[in-house]
Amino acid sequence: MSPLPRSSDVVIIGSGPGGSTLAHGLSRRGARVLVVEEGDFLQPDPARADEPSIHMQEFMQGGPQQFVGGPSKFYGAALYRLREQDFQAVPTETGESPAWPIRYGDLEPFYGEAERLYGVRGSSHEDPSEPPRSQPYPHGPIEHEPYIAPIVERLRAQGLPVAYIPKAVDVGPGGKCILCSRCDGHYCQRDAKMDAELAALRPALATGRVRLLTKTRCLRVLTTPDGRHATGVLLKRGSEEWVVDAGVVAVCAGFAQTPLLLRRSRNDAHPEGIGNASGCLGRYLAGHTAGLLFPMRGLKRVPALHQKTFAINAFYGPSSDWPYPLGVIQAAGQLPLWKSVPAVVRPFVRFIVEHSVTCFLMTEAISSRESGFEFKGDEFARMQPPKPNVKTFLRLRRTAVDIFKKAGFRWVVAPRSPADVWHLVGTARFGDDPATSVLDPLCRVHGMDNLYVVDSCFLPSAGAVNTTLTVIAMSLRVAAHIADRLPS
Ligand SMILES: Cc1cc2nc3c(=O)[nH]c(=O)nc-3n(C[C@H](O)[C@H](O)[C@H](O)COP(=O)(O)OP(=O)(O)OC[C@H]3O[C@@H](n4cnc5c(N)ncnc54)[C@H](O)[C@@H]3O)c2cc1C
Ligand code: SF4
Repeated sequence: MSPLPRSSDVVIIGSGPGGSTLAHGLSRRGARVLVVEEGDFLQPDPARADEPSIHMQEFMQGGPQQFVGGPSKFYGAALYRLREQDFQAVPTETGESPAWPIRYGDLEPFYGEAERLYGVRGSSHEDPSEPPRSQPYPHGPIEHEPYIAPIVERLRAQGLPVAYIPKAVDVGPGGKCILCSRCDGHYCQRDAKMDAELAALRPALATGRVRLLTKTRCLRVLTTPDGRHATGVLLKRGSEEWVVDAGVVAVCAGFAQTPLLLRRSRNDAHPEGIGNASGCLGRYLAGHTAGLLFPMRGLKRVPALHQKTFAINAFYGPSSDWPYPLGVIQAAGQLPLWKSVPAVVRPFVRFIVEHSVTCFLMTEAISSRESGFEFKGDEFARMQPPKPNVKTFLRLRRTAVDIFKKAGFRWVVAPRSPADVWHLVGTARFGDDPATSVLDPLCRVHGMDNLYVVDSCFLPSAGAVNTTLTVIAMSLRVAAHIADRLPS
């Protein structure tokens, strides 16, 4: 086994979409990179080789919670660009969704690069919310299954545009994806889901310039006594602790672990945590108020199929009868949702799920100074969710129920329970003003010259579409910036 590294041009903490893509972007430009990941590789289960995928719960119940690739190993691979208006201030029912310090046009070339890297398959057809693009999708969309195509036509017959979901799966000639029914929430045993490990980390490792340390935890980021320069990181693997010196440190540990790591790294120059001089670290949590919808056509079971191909994005902006954006209606994968409910209602829930074309509903949830994490010492004391736009979400839900009923679904089950919050972002948001943000517009910690945060933490708002492509695009933008600053 090669000795543990003691130095690197760049050290990246975390191998999710932010960290792995940053490693890829830097390695392509010749940098020497060390990626530190607390988890290990997920491996196919030889005893279940005939199953294309395994549900995430089966890995996580009582097992490790961290993996190379982060949660993208289980994601639905819906890779959307945020919409042009998401970069501007948008009024909502509970307050304003904040303006970003950059415009959509600043990120557009990197969105294109991100789509090529992750092999996104999509189309701009019938998506009125689609932002301008300088190049088409790298691959055409995944066509609807024969069971789904007539449903899409009945939705369109109401005058509604119905769009394809942009997806990052390796399907088509020579591809490994068989478009199975269980992708969302599942680990792909066929290596066909373009997650952070497959799309970015593996090609980065193949350059020979990137080294990955698995089962290794970053305990602290270290700085010079004046706190202006990161000197390296303190790592722990098994019982061994050691320091790695770095020219640049990038923390990419996700929306919760990144602020916690920066808090734990506090020192005399940063007494409340690195990047926390104005108390913004961990705060301004944003995301999506989200819920499920179960349109049921009748008492016949929906066959096993790859149904996550269509979305209705026609309600992304305000309308004549509601001044705020409603959000999106998106087909979900076939999820074994009954497994996570109490046994007494399990057969009932299973019946509904197996007889419906499950959909997600997502409305933007707004950040505030109060939303996010409060620290107590080295731990979180509490987490306050972002402000849900409840009336707007309920309006989206009513709209969706009407649409599916008009499309011939006899029953549309829309759970009454309070909606969940998904796609959490913003806990080290970027901005021009150090009094209200943690990072500058290039994702560098305000007041420091070589410490970056490149993961879901930087987003000041979540729009209403899935957020991961924006993390990937920003990683490519930051990679170009860091590479320009490294000694050749
Ligand atoms: C079931 C599911 C479905 C989803 N579907 C979609 C979808 O369809 N589309 C979409 O856009 N998004 C989806 N998401 C969200 C998506 O997975 C996240 O947005 C994305 O993974 C966030 O990337 P990140 O770079 O911020 O960090 P993460 O992916 O959270 O990665 C952080 C990494 O850092 C590591 N780490 C943390 N702390 C340390 C430490 N101290 N030392 C070393 N390593 C550390 C972690 O182990 C992890 O690997 C889904 C998520 C789930 C769970
Ligand atoms: S749909 Fe394709 S990528 Fe997704 S789990 Fe199935 S085989 Fe893997």
